[in-house]
Amino acid sequence: MPSRPEPRDGQSAARRASSSTVLATALWLALGVLLFSEPLSGAAACDNGALGTSRILPVGTQGGLEIGLKTYPRTLPLADHEVVLTFDDGPLPATTGKLLDALKAQCVRATFFMVGRMAAAAPSLAKRVAAEGHTIGYHSFSHPLMRMLSDEAARADIEKGFAAVDQAVYGSAADTPRTPFFRFPGFADTPALNNWLASRNIGVFGTDMWAADW
Ligand SMILES: [Zn+2]
Repeated sequence: MPSRPEPRDGQSAARRASSSTVLATALWLALGVLLFSEPLSGAAACDNGALGTSRILPVGTQGGLEIGLKTYPRTLPLADHEVVLTFDDGPLPATTGKLLDALKAQCVRATFFMVGRMAAAAPSLAKRVAAEGHTIGYHSFSHPLMRMLSDEAARADIEKGFAAVDQAVYGSAADTPRTPFFRFPGFADTPALNNWLASRNIGVFGTDMWAADW
């Protein structure tokens, strides 16, 4: 089994809904800490009953990390009334823009686990997700069920997804993905792939509850 070390140095953050309504925690990169120190765009709307977000939760992935109670024994160290919002698949022109508008209106940040080929098909939308302060995670290139593939083919699709998303969002891709966050399509991990991701210091995100967020 892959090791499950405690989160270490902050590589992302979760932010808590500032109102009592439970809707608005999002994962953030260290980069988000910098963005967080700047005035939020649409701040006036945030003062007018919007949910807003307020807390940054670092999530380290050194040595690997497996998070999400539907699949793994651990979840993020959230307090009462805190949630982390994540969205899988996309970006998709028909829906992602509307979603971003809604999040912006509520001053809420979220984490988007993008599919590489979808990001490649809609790079301006992928860039917009990052530009509006959301965290970018990875969700493979072509969204296969990895358990149906050989390890080699699965790793290749995951790597291709890292590169395609980074190319779309940041305009370039290196050997290491910009964000060490990955979610398996269908949450269908394998021990071998989890070990491989852990060896690359990439965290695997399951979920604490099923939601039709795709
Ligand atoms: Zn998916």
